[in-house]
Amino acid sequence: MPELPEVEVTRRRLERELVGKSFRQVVSRVRKLRLPVPENLEEILPGLTVRAIVRLGKYLLFDCGSGWLLVHLGMTGFLRLLNGSPPPGKHDHLDFLFDENLLLRYHDPRKFGIVTWFTGDPQHHPLLAEIGPEPLSDAFDGAYLFGVSRNRNVAVKQLIMNSKVVAGVGNIYANEALFRALIRPDRAAGTLNLHECSELATVIREVLETSVNEGSSFRVAEETVAYYPQSFKVYGRGGKACLTCGNVLDEIRLGNRSTVYCRTCQR
Ligand SMILES: [Zn+2]
Repeated sequence: MPELPEVEVTRRRLERELVGKSFRQVVSRVRKLRLPVPENLEEILPGLTVRAIVRLGKYLLFDCGSGWLLVHLGMTGFLRLLNGSPPPGKHDHLDFLFDENLLLRYHDPRKFGIVTWFTGDPQHHPLLAEIGPEPLSDAFDGAYLFGVSRNRNVAVKQLIMNSKVVAGVGNIYANEALFRALIRPDRAAGTLNLHECSELATVIREVLETSVNEGSSFRVAEETVAYYPQSFKVYGRGGKACLTCGNVLDEIRLGNRSTVYCRTCQR
């Protein structure tokens, strides 16, 4: 699943290439992904110019002046920038053709993504209204995390993966951040003290920023915006040795998501 860093790298790349350019033509080969693709998308977009591309959590928002093109990559989606109009492959569901023959192509085998259009304030859109603070922004810090975790019995890992609490911290980065912060993922969120919350907020930002930076420097074949190789310390390493202490890493399910941690290092 594309996580926040992949979406942010995608945003930065698209921003460089597409801001100031106008939609020429839109072709949708599906009418429904996770939500319906608007019937009139092909009529709305041509002629509109991309003013900015912003990210809210894992949602990409193309500011088109009179409204917003919203894209979410779902479980398996990615966006590819191409020159010209090569024939679409399987699962290439939408094409956005821009000035200078630049083509933005949406590919999504499982069709769990979203491509839609809306007007008005993004903060009031039903998909966006409840998204919590952006983890890379100043609004997300230890004091905030401390405040929202008081009297909460939910596991801290599930708390930080709740997009209403903080936007876009997915499973991989939740595992990694808790390992770095030396906090057990299954601890009740309400038991964290302010110092632990500050540490956790800091490392969440660090693991996300590291991945954004690695993704930005990663050479991507064929203009494909995809996933980035990264060396994870715990994610995917259940049963292997902890890189800090050498003990075997435990793997459990929390909220039905794979959770790996070191019972010696994390408390
Ligand atoms: Zn350890």
